[in-house]
Amino acid sequence: MKGVDYQMIILKLGGSVITRKESAFPIINSKNLDRICREISEAKPVKMVIIHGAGSFGHPYAKKYEIGQEIKNQEDFQKKKLGYSLTHNSVKELNIRVCQYLLNYGVPAIALPPSSFILTRNKRIESADLSMIENYLEMGWVPVLHGDVVLDMDENIKMAVLSGDQLVKHLAEKLHPGRIILGSDVDGIYNRDPKTDPQAQLLPLVKSLEDLESLQGARTVDVTGGMTGKLRELLELAKMGIESKIINADQPGLLKKSLNGEKVKGTIISQ
Ligand code: ADP
Repeated sequence: MKGVDYQMIILKLGGSVITRKESAFPIINSKNLDRICREISEAKPVKMVIIHGAGSFGHPYAKKYEIGQEIKNQEDFQKKKLGYSLTHNSVKELNIRVCQYLLNYGVPAIALPPSSFILTRNKRIESADLSMIENYLEMGWVPVLHGDVVLDMDENIKMAVLSGDQLVKHLAEKLHPGRIILGSDVDGIYNRDPKTDPQAQLLPLVKSLEDLESLQGARTVDVTGGMTGKLRELLELAKMGIESKIINADQPGLLKKSLNGEKVKGTIISQ
């Protein structure tokens, strides 16, 4: 097995942070995105992969066209096919913006859209050639991937929504980064949804789903499972001995500190 690459960081930027996730149509959170990209550039990452969520650029389309659900008939297939392309085009637009903000601050971002090199089977990644990511990383580029639609090898589905969180899990498993940081719009994982329960308490360490009293997905339309989906992916990593941390990227300065290796408030998902 490949050893841990302590220089490498996998950073996930939640769709809830860089877009107005509650919106029924695509809206970017440019203030957050600008600040976050500045913080990334100031942290001067040596080796970093960025994965961003789709937020309001992906979920409303994927939901409307029921991407990932069984294809009913030929007419449904044609409809879903168009929806697939619309979803991809929309998340690509967000990706262009993310890369543009990174470039504005001199971060050599390079977009690698998952739909062009990843296949799933029954919504889980089946094949992904990561050599391109590795080549870019070795030379100091910052590959930027995103939640996307991908072709699925299951005959009845054919198309799936691939969440940024599943990408985090897959890349971490294969690339062995020193650190995995997920920036969300809350401080981390709470025992209950902090947006609906002001008494909810932040959990500094989560080892299993049982640590939570209740875990609903995000309140917004998240076709990939919201916080529950995220935690499931991260717990899979934890089982393999790979630790990750969720922090609040809405709070100015926290991401930079975390990237610099400083201890910040958040939730560690570990064995
Ligand atoms: P992101 O877009 O950052 O990847 P999501 O929007 O999918 O993240 O999930 C984050 C949201 O999950 C939070 O805004 C919060 O409202 C919701 N949530 C539900 N239950 C919890 C919980 N127990 N702890 C933290 N957040 C929770």
